[in-house]
Amino acid sequence: MSGVDEIVVGKTKLGLVQGDITRQATEAIVNAANPNLMGGGGVDGAIHQAGGPAILEECRKIVSRIGRLDTGKAVITSGGKLQAKYVIHTIGPVWHGGSRGEAELLASAYRESLKSATDYKLKSLSFPSISSGAYGYPMAEAARVALSTVIAFLRGVSTSLEEVFFVLYDSKTYQVYSAELAESASQM
Ligand code: ADP
Repeated sequence: MSGVDEIVVGKTKLGLVQGDITRQATEAIVNAANPNLMGGGGVDGAIHQAGGPAILEECRKIVSRIGRLDTGKAVITSGGKLQAKYVIHTIGPVWHGGSRGEAELLASAYRESLKSATDYKLKSLSFPSISSGAYGYPMAEAARVALSTVIAFLRGVSTSLEEVFFVLYDSKTYQVYSAELAESASQM
């Protein structure tokens, strides 16, 4: 089956983009962060690099107030120098083979991010492919959890979100998500 790059769920457009999430002009972008919120490699490093030190400073204050963030949770900061006004930092699970609740924790990271965006009445949001880089979650399974969770959320609740994008860094990841979105669309 060939891929799909956009579907509509309820009143929200769900689209796939290949590119760098730090350059997205959606109101918020999601960061696949570490529990200490102190930045790191991959998309986390790219977001802090592009957004400047103000984001890290807000993260530091959050951690001093509530401690390290649990896997599957999300918090929001400003977007610093990014075009996006906000960054939603969420913690995906490290892949340990799939029997340690990874799928539910990954779904929770997406849901908590969507809840946070809805609480802030945001109209547009971009996600990276959470956990599928350094955290080792197999890409096709990560894509299935990501898309099914976002689709279920958009179907199930009233949300301010008009547009949700997955911004996928390389063409291989894009193709995996596109094939998975085609599968989801065929079941709708
Ligand atoms: P995790 O630790 O959650 O696995 P990573 O940042 O290592 O997070 O990887 C998550 C995904 O983000 C990977 O698919 C990686 O290719 C992708 N990625 C890395 N940099 C960017 C970026 N600037 N924009 C979008 N996606 C990115």
